[in-house]
Amino acid sequence: LNHQLTALPTTIFTRMSALAQEHGAINLGQGFPDTEGPADMIDAACDALRDDRNQYAPLTGLPELRAAVAASNARFYGLEIDPAREVIVTSGATEALASCLMAVLNPGDEVVLIEPLYDTYLPMVQMLGCTARCVRLVPPNWDLPRYTLAAAFGPRTKAIMLNSPMNPTGKVFTPDELAFIAGLLRQHGAYAICDEVYEHLTFDGQVHVPLMTLPGMREHCLRIGSAGKTFSLTGWKIGYITAPASLAPTVAKAHQNIAFASAPNLQRAVAHGLSNDESYFASLADALGRQRDILAEGLRACRFEVLPCSGTYFVVADFAPLGFSGSDLAFCEHITRDAGVTAIPVSAFYAPDSADDAPTTLIRFAFCKRPDVLRDAVTRLTRHFA
Ligand code: PMP
Ligand code: GLN
Repeated sequence: LNHQLTALPTTIFTRMSALAQEHGAINLGQGFPDTEGPADMIDAACDALRDDRNQYAPLTGLPELRAAVAASNARFYGLEIDPAREVIVTSGATEALASCLMAVLNPGDEVVLIEPLYDTYLPMVQMLGCTARCVRLVPPNWDLPRYTLAAAFGPRTKAIMLNSPMNPTGKVFTPDELAFIAGLLRQHGAYAICDEVYEHLTFDGQVHVPLMTLPGMREHCLRIGSAGKTFSLTGWKIGYITAPASLAPTVAKAHQNIAFASAPNLQRAVAHGLSNDESYFASLADALGRQRDILAEGLRACRFEVLPCSGTYFVVADFAPLGFSGSDLAFCEHITRDAGVTAIPVSAFYAPDSADDAPTTLIRFAFCKRPDVLRDAVTRLTRHFA
């Protein structure tokens, strides 16, 4: 068996969801909404099932979905994208990440990763026989240490993985930080795999800027979106890659050998969803911003220190002021069992071989839940910590 896979523990998301279920806790761990996505999209998917959309879709995606992805690149970011040559539909952003990495990496290449990192990044890089160079953001504001980032780039650097808006921190990279990263990519001739699954989920007037929109960055960037996050349909696993024509055929070959194609009825429904007017996207972000506020205020009232959060489904809180002496994992297990609320330890988002000196008192809460559920969670925590 593959020794990297056998050594890999079960994901922290599955582990904490199982614990939440066992104890009847409100699960603010794994990031999935507790409401269904838009009814018109679900109708469109059902219609497509009855409408001869049940055989293989084209390898790079249904033309109507590729056109809708290109149109939303133009509408939101002013990017001119050729839907026939520069868009690839995948089975979720997870498959998109794997296809992009497989397309750009050869064994022995180095990839720069930014910690805290989404849990699939490191295993994917390692399974391709490549080495990760991890750079840590500095809490509580998750500042980018520019000197350290520059030092992580070297002659074998092939790519950086950049997640903005970022899970688990809720950080939205600033135009200035993006310009710094763009400079490094130019200097080293490296690529950026831009995980932008939370592109439409930003708050307080923060604007998400794709690295791909910066001068000269079109040829360096593979930009990934996900219908799961944009339409609160995480189970559908429809993702999309926007790639320059110089890279897209190789990414398509990777996709051909991983998934080949994705469910055509869901693709048709996502095309329908992407053509929503601006108010859909704005009200989704507004609602999530209000949910963040309910949770953050409640956590502060319980004496957690709540870290800044400008986007995503997640807010990080520091439990140090509560005086708990165990690890962040122990704290998450404790509140699941004894307060009835589940969160995820932030140390799970650090490379295992250096996790020893990762932050020890930070935990991540998901607020993509109904306001009454979040209020109930706050009530439970308040009762426990009062
Ligand atoms: N990237 C990040 C940062 C995520 O948080 C997630 C999952 N929520 C994914 C990728 C995977 O997205 P998908 O479900 O579309 O595969
Ligand atoms: N992206 C989700 C999260 O961060 C989890 C998805 C998964 O369980 N793989 O909570």
